[in-house]
Amino acid sequence: MFQEAIARYLNQNGYQDINLKSVLFDMDGVLFNSMPYHADAWHKVMESHGLHLSREEAYLHEGRTGAATINIVYQRQFHKEASPEVVKAIYAEKSAEFNKNPEPEKMPGAWEVLQKIKANGLQPMVVTGSGQHSLLGRLAHNFPGMFTRELMVTAFDVKYGKPNPEPYLMALQKGNLEANEAIVIENAPMGVQAGAAAGIFTVAVNTGPIDGQILLDSGANILFPSMQAFCDNWEALYGELQQGNS
Ligand code: CA
Repeated sequence: MFQEAIARYLNQNGYQDINLKSVLFDMDGVLFNSMPYHADAWHKVMESHGLHLSREEAYLHEGRTGAATINIVYQRQFHKEASPEVVKAIYAEKSAEFNKNPEPEKMPGAWEVLQKIKANGLQPMVVTGSGQHSLLGRLAHNFPGMFTRELMVTAFDVKYGKPNPEPYLMALQKGNLEANEAIVIENAPMGVQAGAAAGIFTVAVNTGPIDGQILLDSGANILFPSMQAFCDNWEALYGELQQGNS
């Protein structure tokens, strides 16, 4: 059922086959169910400044820097740039609002699929725009033995961030991988764009309220309605990814 998508990817990117060695996971909305908290914090804090950003729209901006998100909404309403002071204040309030929430839960299916991937002898990596200092500890606590700092790309490593392909190109470099030796797992349109622009087979998992078609239009090679569905289909997908490599 995935053959057509794989063939189209190989054709577009000029590869003969996929020789899978690593699976590159985005974090928020993929490994952790943290997006409802982010969307809620954005909505509340923007509203308190007279700026309108619905929770649903917040999902479409996922992956942008805080400053970029604030400026898009500010420009739309006031037809001018927000001052650096305003950007800083709103972003600080948004972070504080987000931190009022309990620690986000693991996304259902995430731990299970990671174990399958490890058992297949593949290397899981994290590629995130997040710059939270607690990130490494939280990953180690929730997904013990899966990730190492050396094989991780965070906000501290990159200059441009998603949708620029930079974070995924950096992951390939850190993992000593070619683009056809990895796949990307993403939930947001801009994350999908980044994975596709890096020339990597990109799997979209639609874990939020947006229309799945937006993820396909952003360049996703395959779409699953949840992480659990990705996990449940792992064996079938892995089998077909391996097929050209006999
Ligand atoms: Ca994400």
